[in-house]
Amino acid sequence: MEKIILDNRYEIIEQIGVGGMAKVYKAKDRLLDRFVAIKVLKEQYAEDDEFLKKFNNEAQSAAKLNHVNIVNVYDIGEDLLEGRKIYYIVMEYVEGQTLKDLIDEEGKLSNHDIIDYSVQIAQALKSAHSSGIIHRDIKPQNILIDKFGLAKVTDFGIARVSSNATITYTSSILGTVHYISPEQAKGKIVDEKSDLYSLGAVMYEMATGKVPFDADNSVGIAVMHIQDKAKPAKELNPELSDHLNFIIMKLLEKEPGNRFLNATDLIDSLENQNSFKAQALEETARIPIVVPNKEKKKKKKLKQEETPKSEEAVYVSPTDEEPKDKNKTKSLKIWPLALLALILVGAVYYFMSRPKDDVLEVPTVINLSQEMAVKELEKRGLKANISRTEESDDYDKGKVMKQDPEANTEVKIGTTVNLVISAGREVSVPDLAGLNLTEAEEKLKELGLSIGRTSTEYSDQVEKDLIIDQNPRSATNLQAGSKVDLVISAGPEEKIENIEVPNLIGMSEEQAESLISQYGLVLRNVDYRESEDVEKGNVISQSISEGTQVAPQSQIDLVVSTGKKEKEKDKEENQTGQVKNVDLRLNINNGKDKFNVKIYKLDDNDKRSDILYDQNQTSKDLDESQVLQLNFQAIQNTKFEVLVDDESYGVYTVN
Ligand code: ATP
Ligand code: MG
Repeated sequence: MEKIILDNRYEIIEQIGVGGMAKVYKAKDRLLDRFVAIKVLKEQYAEDDEFLKKFNNEAQSAAKLNHVNIVNVYDIGEDLLEGRKIYYIVMEYVEGQTLKDLIDEEGKLSNHDIIDYSVQIAQALKSAHSSGIIHRDIKPQNILIDKFGLAKVTDFGIARVSSNATITYTSSILGTVHYISPEQAKGKIVDEKSDLYSLGAVMYEMATGKVPFDADNSVGIAVMHIQDKAKPAKELNPELSDHLNFIIMKLLEKEPGNRFLNATDLIDSLENQNSFKAQALEETARIPIVVPNKEKKKKKKLKQEETPKSEEAVYVSPTDEEPKDKNKTKSLKIWPLALLALILVGAVYYFMSRPKDDVLEVPTVINLSQEMAVKELEKRGLKANISRTEESDDYDKGKVMKQDPEANTEVKIGTTVNLVISAGREVSVPDLAGLNLTEAEEKLKELGLSIGRTSTEYSDQVEKDLIIDQNPRSATNLQAGSKVDLVISAGPEEKIENIEVPNLIGMSEEQAESLISQYGLVLRNVDYRESEDVEKGNVISQSISEGTQVAPQSQIDLVVSTGKKEKEKDKEENQTGQVKNVDLRLNINNGKDKFNVKIYKLDDNDKRSDILYDQNQTSKDLDESQVLQLNFQAIQNTKFEVLVDDESYGVYTVN
């Protein structure tokens, strides 16, 4: 099979998916030598101008988003493929699977994984919402999980294009309707809370393996979103933590105001599992117990904010023990039996937990903000100490980059954990003008920077594919890890050079013909006429006058002199009869591109005498019914004969 290369740059490798409005391909970006995913709009949409305009706008705004949990949009393009115009979006290629596939594979996800993915999706929403972009189509199919366990949300804002604010329940969005918010289902204007609802539905599916509402048609499902109450997720998955169940059901509230305030609020709640659990526990018992987080370590290493995932851990700070002790002394006086029971419980507890009673595992606070890290440690009865800041490319400014003791070390309550905070690193943006993209990428990489958005512009000065401009400009200070947008030269704009038509009058027919082709023009028709002043065989006039600016390959007609003779003869003949206009229609059906037509006057003996017409014609001169129309003047009652390519086409009389 022949290779398909879009825009001379993206080499299509294979189809990796198909959705409602597009097909998705894996491709190789030859310019930057990396894999990309290319979403090509289906044909029926490529013909809808209104749709295309919106599609472009939305893709452009999605391209502005830059977050580790959002599939990066690199480029938007159009190209001709087998004569048809195609429109496409070039995106970051995510090697992995969709969250839908993962749920289908695993059924129900663990509490740990639900929190992990939900926080990441919420981070993506937080970033997009802060740029004013609502996703509108949050569903597991639009969440890709890469090989490192990173969740990446795709198709930001695209749903707006296809749904046009009111949802139409067509089969193409059948998959979508399982996750739409009640307000979306009602066709109302949606805001960020609508995305939170959809995330709630996605979390429900992660927790239970089932969507919150299902029916055999999409309208039915939409109506359920509007009026039915979903069965609590915990009923379908008893392993689900109370806190997660609470979060999911809160997100699925019909009334947007009853959901979380925003994505940040949701993230806080997801990350603050312990306080919820501790609070719930206070109501039942107050036992001075420290249960280390036994959760298995996640094998996947996450780059972005790692959240303290310890919904099963219960930590009660030493101060919590006091009221319990007081109660104990009180009851001691009143109930000797209770005392015995307490001693027993105490003894059992003492032997069971003695080696660990004031020991706990240090949580990981790497990648948390300094404030969050301190809170997190103090909540667990540890102390935090900021030992220093250090420059770093890998950790954002203000985030914890090292901790001592390390995560999972067993320490006593009250131990101080020393933290090193990233100062980020400021680098001076290099001058990239004149480099190609590969060179620029290398240069940026050395400094811990990378290429952001690229766009192209025509340039007469800068060679094609080399960088014309950059943002931020060179010598600007930038945090390592940032991106630099580039403008790349598309070479000089192809201007159509006009041709100035030369003078042809007075030249011989051959001279004129060769000059016409030298100038890049095309000779179309040559007419032959008598002339008083122009010698036979020379050009009398030209259809486009000298000095006119015309496009290359413009067609030009000439009139060439046949000398004076005819005119004098006309004069004689004028005396004998009346001059008539002859309209002759010749049915030419010879299938030739070029042919010659001659008309001879016949003398009294029907012999050919003067030539009235002699011209090379082309098939372009014929009308649709292959008829050649000729106009000429002749004296009444003259007989003439028509010849096509020197073969007689009939004899006529002027009347
Ligand atoms: P919809 O048309 O409603 O968005 P969808 O999300 O199922 O439906 P697409 O967005 O067209 O459809 O994506 C189709 C499939 O292509 C996805 O399910 C996924 O498997 C794959 N895919 C999409 N984007 C990427 C990407 N950036 N990297 C890798 N695979 C992708
Ligand atoms: Mg999609």
